[in-house]
Amino acid sequence: MSGAYFAAGPCAFCGLVFTFNPERVPSIPSNAWEIAEIAESSGEPPAKGTMLPVCGDCMQKVNRLREQHNMPPLPILPGAYDPAEGFPP
Ligand SMILES: [Zn+2]
Repeated sequence: MSGAYFAAGPCAFCGLVFTFNPERVPSIPSNAWEIAEIAESSGEPPAKGTMLPVCGDCMQKVNRLREQHNMPPLPILPGAYDPAEGFPP
């Protein structure tokens, strides 16, 4: 038996609802800003919140910004925005 499935949800950055492969989509913790602020003030960062997906457009924007700051681009796994093969785990 074979199948395919995908998830849909709002992008962590732009809020646009998009479909994605939940096992491959790039994502950030829902409290990423809080983690960054506390890490910058050298406190103990809180536990990661729920992981939120990031859409392809926003990943490209993030990677352009990273390039401008001489940071390596974040990887986008092949098939991140395609349906997943099989059945949800
Ligand atoms: Zn987005």
